[in-house]
Amino acid sequence: MRALVLLLALSCPALADVPQVQTDIPPVAALVAQVMGDLGSPGVLLDKGGDEHDLHLRPSQMRALNGAQLLVWIGPELTPGLDTARQSVPDLQSLALLDDPATLRQDYAGGGINPHAWLDPTNASRWLDLIAQRLSALDPDHAAIYAANAAAAQAQIAALDADLARQLSGLTQSFVTYHDAYGYFTAHYHLPSAGGLAAGDAAAPGAARLSALRAQAEQGQIACAFPEAQHDPALITNLAQGTALFIGPPLDPVGSTLDPTPQAYASLMTALTQSLLTCANKP
Ligand SMILES: [Zn+2]
Repeated sequence: MRALVLLLALSCPALADVPQVQTDIPPVAALVAQVMGDLGSPGVLLDKGGDEHDLHLRPSQMRALNGAQLLVWIGPELTPGLDTARQSVPDLQSLALLDDPATLRQDYAGGGINPHAWLDPTNASRWLDLIAQRLSALDPDHAAIYAANAAAAQAQIAALDADLARQLSGLTQSFVTYHDAYGYFTAHYHLPSAGGLAAGDAAAPGAARLSALRAQAEQGQIACAFPEAQHDPALITNLAQGTALFIGPPLDPVGSTLDPTPQAYASLMTALTQSLLTCANKP
């Protein structure tokens, strides 16, 4: 057995050096997967359909984290449960993307940092460099590949961004979303958002928030309301009842329904755009 392992290690020495990487959410996994290219693929810890604010690792996920050299994640502001878990793993390196001084950071209207920063493609593009740098530090032999892959992914994001900006220029109607996650997206694309029904951590909204939004809807200040993939649509349905609010398709800001493929970032941003555009094209 030992001889076989040795033989395998000798026959593909490059493979042995590529770090095992875990990530928090599919859009981050997608950025890492683009930088790793053919060298490897990262794991993702958020379950399909999971709520990013309520991420707690099962024993099998804890084992996966234990086998990793690097965790690439947004940071404790998004997934406090993962912060506790990763601190229990000795020698696990952490790249918390929100900590980067060049990352655009945004506060919620009610205070506190909004961690949904991947929804601004400027950040995603910046993070590709950070990921390439960190992987290169762990695996210098492949530094040129990581850098080239990051540059290619940045070109794709620039093209995607231009395309989405062109499409979203047609969206002038104000809309409300289930949770207050979209500030980076609405600021970047200059969209007239009325914010979230629930707060940024997706905790259920209070009666005051509900009646304030209802009054805005009755006065015609909000045209559309969007439920979310991970949350019961009943609150949005209740808000819309008796008003002219158009209920759009469920949004998935964290890509929880997506496989963590290299294309997942573009898929998430494209799906979000197409869903929001139903508000511009509603009957
Ligand atoms: Zn969220």
